[in-house]
Amino acid sequence: MENNHIESIIVGAGCAGMNCALELKKENRPYLVLADYMGGRIYNDDKYHMNYGAVFFFGSYDNMLDPQKNIIQPTTDVLPKLGDGFCHNDPNNDSKMYAALSFKTLCDAPSLIKYMNFMNNEFLPHYKQYKANCEIMEVQTALKKDPLMNELYHQTADEMIAKRGFQGICNDLISLFAHACTGSKVNTLSALDYLNCVQPLTLKIPSLERVMSIKRFDFDKEGMTKRLREGNGEVLLGDDGTVTSVAREESGWSVTCKDGSTYTCDNLVMTTPIDVTAKLLDGLPGVPKLKVRNASVLYGYLLECQPQPAFEKGIVHIFSDETPIIFIAKREEGRYEIFTEVEFEESRMFDRYFKPGWKVIGSKYWPKALFTNPNYVNPNNLAKGLILAGDCNGLGMEPAAISGVYAANKILGKTVD
Ligand SMILES: Cc1cc2nc3c(=O)[nH]c(=O)nc-3n(C[C@H](O)[C@H](O)[C@H](O)COP(=O)(O)OP(=O)(O)OC[C@H]3O[C@@H](n4cnc5c(N)ncnc54)[C@H](O)[C@@H]3O)c2cc1C
Repeated sequence: MENNHIESIIVGAGCAGMNCALELKKENRPYLVLADYMGGRIYNDDKYHMNYGAVFFFGSYDNMLDPQKNIIQPTTDVLPKLGDGFCHNDPNNDSKMYAALSFKTLCDAPSLIKYMNFMNNEFLPHYKQYKANCEIMEVQTALKKDPLMNELYHQTADEMIAKRGFQGICNDLISLFAHACTGSKVNTLSALDYLNCVQPLTLKIPSLERVMSIKRFDFDKEGMTKRLREGNGEVLLGDDGTVTSVAREESGWSVTCKDGSTYTCDNLVMTTPIDVTAKLLDGLPGVPKLKVRNASVLYGYLLECQPQPAFEKGIVHIFSDETPIIFIAKREEGRYEIFTEVEFEESRMFDRYFKPGWKVIGSKYWPKALFTNPNYVNPNNLAKGLILAGDCNGLGMEPAAISGVYAANKILGKTVD
């Protein structure tokens, strides 16, 4: 880095920032990653292997699982058998729970079959191609190319469910799973984000084989930092990497960090959460104003506890969007992970689910967890050399990762736009 100038600066080191840097590293191109925290909303605890941020991945997360990138390391299955999952769609009566694979859900066979047909024959093939397109073109261009994806992006999940006749199985199972993934109400989620979340509930008819796994993972932030510093890469974290302002220069971009240092570059990739990016870029000449989706609020908890009788059965309990709890998962005897939409410890709301004596052994509050609605599309190319990435145009780790790949491809001249 000469005179603090470098070809590319990547602001943020979450799924988008890491993927962008790893793609540039593959091509031996210089970059500087500036971030306050390595991993971002991947927030892993080494001792208990608890993910307080992003909890699980699906088998279709090709970029996050790419062995060459080695970003996350798969650990345990969240739900070894579908029958170990329990659904709670009556917010007032916990004893009215039922198994995910039960007489109740089997009564939804007509809508279940419609859902499976749609997933296997329409959504998944189109989504696969759409994701591949998003690596080499802006999201808005990829949407224009595929009318089905475009329709799903701009529809809410409940509109899509009604239009396609999936109400039965969605009300009893699938929408509860989408709520467990996002902490958002189904009538606000876009149909595309909803279907992205519920992919692992696709069964291959007639074998009933589950096509996609749902697994937890570890993330080695020191190892990742070290790898990104190798070769032509540099990483600054904490105050040294926290960007406080961005400016347009005659021939590029400059960023200033909390420690007072300023760096300039030809390509600036912004992968901070969209609300942070919008503030940092606000008012810059020639840069469009960004649209910021509303975010869900989430609390992640790890508890030592014994469940109340209604929660003794099974491994995972998921809840409808009328309750402030999204899921409870048993980790081992006497240890549970729980995600909620409001604070549960001080208010003693855990009493409803666990016997007296429960103890929180770790927690994390996310005032802005997932950016879920409404269905805005932001451009990826904001100005010459200024690229927007992150989960602002699609929910979850893999869409964020893909946006990072796109940003790197743009710098490497591998995109079609
Ligand atoms: C509780 C919770 C559960 C979730 N569960 C799942 C799940 O099970 N599966 C799934 O796929 N997704 C899940 N998600 C969503 C997933 O975590 C995100 O979509 C994804 O991690 C976003 O990646 P990103 O790179 O866009 O942003 P982030 O991960 O937020 O990364 C942004 C980066 O920017 C940095 N940063 C912020 N401000 C500044 C600044 N001023 N200067 C420099 N750097 C800055 C941050 O430190 C971070 O490094 C969950 C999210 C939460 C919060």
